[in-house]
Order: sequence, then structure tokens, then C-alpha cells
Amino acid sequence: MFMTRILLVPVLVLAMVCAGPAVLAQTPRTDVIPTADGPIEITMLGHASLMFVFQGRVVYVDPWIRMDDLSGRPKANLILITHEHRDHLDTEAIGRVMKEGTVLVVTRACAEELGDRFKAPMVMGNGDTRTAAGFQIEAVPAYNLVHMRSPGQPYHPKGRGNGYVITFGDKRVYVAGDTENIPEMKALQAIDAAFLPMNLPYTMDSAMAVEAARSFKPGIVYPYHTGFGPDQEAGFIDLMKGVEGVEVRGSR
Ligand code: ZN
Ligand code: ZN
Repeated sequence: MFMTRILLVPVLVLAMVCAGPAVLAQTPRTDVIPTADGPIEITMLGHASLMFVFQGRVVYVDPWIRMDDLSGRPKANLILITHEHRDHLDTEAIGRVMKEGTVLVVTRACAEELGDRFKAPMVMGNGDTRTAAGFQIEAVPAYNLVHMRSPGQPYHPKGRGNGYVITFGDKRVYVAGDTENIPEMKALQAIDAAFLPMNLPYTMDSAMAVEAARSFKPGIVYPYHTGFGPDQEAGFIDLMKGVEGVEVRGSR
């Protein structure tokens, strides 16, 4: 019994990561998007980890110390977690950037997993809009349509995970979370910048991401969640060159 439990733990942990076995660390890259109220500084920390700085306030999405150990990074005003997989919900990373007053936004499943580890996280579900740390946050659906862990068992079931639309001044930034090119994504309106995930089999391939971007036409699109290295990203950037009205920027 004891041995069985020891053996099961690593198997479960592996099963719950949607990054694949060969996650590559990447050099963080910072980009800037102007708004009417000052610039948004975006640091792509690697894989699905993002940091936004706007008017001196700091927002992290899915910080993961396997990508960036966060030492020397500013503390968070707001932390958004898209879902409970290990490459997105990293309690050590959250602990490193938390300070008194940090708002932690999570899904219901994340809240259940965290228990009382962090003080009163704000739980958001698909369709919720809240103000957190002075930012308007919309939680939007993120799920698989075709990629299944086993027949009938998607890697990301509908209703469980969130993407987020964050408003910075007059700009709306969409961080998709782990999802495919679902109808709710294609119906998004007035998105100035979008982060679309691509690695297989957990999220999208580059063609699916291009099809999504073509549908809702974000001003700028960034590939992210590129856990399997540069191939998906390079292919995506190439394919996006044929899509008018959407600027593509790399994550590296
Ligand atoms: Zn993931
Ligand atoms: Zn996932």
C-alpha cells in the first residue's frame, strides 16, 4: 500500500502538467504596448507565465518557477491563475510574488486544491467580470474541443479553466489559458492583444491558432504556452503573415 502511494504521486503530477515532458526554458522577453493612460510593459517569462506592469501595478498570469525563479521580480498587485495544471498553478511561485494586499484570482478547482494556503483567493468562473486590484477582469471559457486525454476526456474540460481579458487603460488584453479555437474565443470583441496557446496535444497547433486569430482579429497576437520549443511558434508566425489586420509578435 505504502509503495503504491509513493509510485502514484509522480505519475499523477506528470498527468496534470499540460506542458509535455520537454519544456524548454526561454529567455524572458519584454514588449511594450501603448495605451491612452501609459504603456503596458509585458514580460514573457516563458511557457504560459506572463508579467504585466501598468501604472506601477504588477499583474502575473500563471507564474511558474520552472520558467523563471522570480528572484528580483516585483511583487504582485494581482495574480491570475487560469487552471490547476502544474505549469499554471505553482504555489511556490505565487508565494514568491505575494505581498500584503495581493489579489489572487483562481478557478473553483484551484481554490479547492489550494485550501487555506493563501488568504481568501477571489474565485472566478467563465462569464464572471470583477474588478481586482483596480483592473477590470473578465473570465472567459478555455477548453478542448478535439484533443482528448482518452475518449470523452478532454485535457481541459469545458467550464473548469479560465482565460482572462484584462483591461489596461483603453486596451483589452486576452490571455487565453489552455484552450482550443472554441466558439467563445472566436466571438471575442475588441481585443487589442491576445496570447494564444500552442503546443500539442494539450492546446492548439499553429493552424488552429491562426484560424482563431483570423476570427476575432486581435490587434496584436502573441504565441505562448510553447512548451515544445520553437517549431509551433515559427510556423504560427509564418502562417499569420497572411492574415490582414493582425500583427504577430514572437514570444522570444
Ligand atoms: Zn498548460
Ligand atoms: Zn492545462
